[in-house]
Amino acid sequence: MRPKTAKIILAGWLIDGSGGPIRKNQIIGIKKGCIDFICDAKESNYQKQELLDLSHCTLLPGLIDCHTHLCMSGSSDPEIRRRQLDLSFEDAVKIIHQHLKQYRKWGIIAVRDGGDRKGHTLQYKLSKHNKDQSLICLKTAGRAFHQSGRYGKLIGRSFALDSSLAKDVKENQEDIDHLKLVNSGLNSLTRFGVETAPQFSAKDFKKAVKIAKNRGLSVMVHANGKKPVQIAIEAGCTSIEHGFFMGEDNLNKMAQKKIIWIPTAITMQAYLRHMQKHSIESKICKKNLDHQLDQIRLAREKGVITAIGTDAGSQGVHHGSSVQEELKLFISAGYSISKAVKCACFHGATLLNLKNKGLLAKDRDADFIAFEKSPDNLFQNIIEPDMICLQGDFGDFGGRPLHL
Ligand SMILES: [Zn+2]
Repeated sequence: MRPKTAKIILAGWLIDGSGGPIRKNQIIGIKKGCIDFICDAKESNYQKQELLDLSHCTLLPGLIDCHTHLCMSGSSDPEIRRRQLDLSFEDAVKIIHQHLKQYRKWGIIAVRDGGDRKGHTLQYKLSKHNKDQSLICLKTAGRAFHQSGRYGKLIGRSFALDSSLAKDVKENQEDIDHLKLVNSGLNSLTRFGVETAPQFSAKDFKKAVKIAKNRGLSVMVHANGKKPVQIAIEAGCTSIEHGFFMGEDNLNKMAQKKIIWIPTAITMQAYLRHMQKHSIESKICKKNLDHQLDQIRLAREKGVITAIGTDAGSQGVHHGSSVQEELKLFISAGYSISKAVKCACFHGATLLNLKNKGLLAKDRDADFIAFEKSPDNLFQNIIEPDMICLQGDFGDFGGRPLHL
């Protein structure tokens, strides 16, 4: 049986999203959808009858996917992948709905969209998204900007040759949440570590970032390889997306400038699953993944702020479940469970500018997910949360029947 609401909850283990130690036997008080207090079970003089006993569960804040494409599915079927590039808005709405539903089932409370070719996700957000109904916070870039003839057509627009990135960004008046710029190509799956040239000059890029920042927009940059990432960092972008093969110097600069890194390592693992074993592509893909995990390890040591983003919608990367898969990869690269959760919660909320989310702490929203197990092997098997509570409401938000 699942309760509709509860005022006081006993959590067997609490991971609060701050990266601090996992706390045992915690009492969480909820008032008007927010957290009223958290204390040790022994200190509290709660009434037993008003308590929701989750002493066999691990509780953590709702998760955030900092890099997704809501318009595209993770299907590996080439026909589906081809069709989804040319969707009508009506069809896009159905797909976006489906993906948001999946996110909710997996306990994801906010997503940051990296763009689609026709700007459907932005149109959806402005005309159809009912945040009160879905309770998922959606931030979107609309259409990404890329150089004509270079990678990016799937997720955005290029511009006339006599124009410039800065001019185009300046003229764009769409009601976007953040600006998405594409400054490199994709990773090669046939030659290891090949870096593509930057798409824009440092000068043009810097100007564009400045214009966006003056408009109050954060800037997310698709960049792989040393030079494309360096240009984005020097321009003062907010986050580097992917950042494969960006190298140690760039990581040092990111730590210094507090630029957030979204490694999306899961993309390589997902490709790998669908490749023919022992093929050249699968060998390169595995090397790419291992190299990225080494960079994540290094980033942690250097204090780079990292967040969990999946690039859901790319081949084999599914909306919702892939957040836990990326968490698992962070843990395999040396993050403790608690620190990895911080990346998916507090760092995500910071990046999306959601001041009430990301932490289970006094006065923040009572958004949490519960797993019926101890934290020791959390994310070892990728499973849906057993319970999801959004702003204090345990309503019909998915989760499997809990054994109370
Ligand atoms: Zn992407």
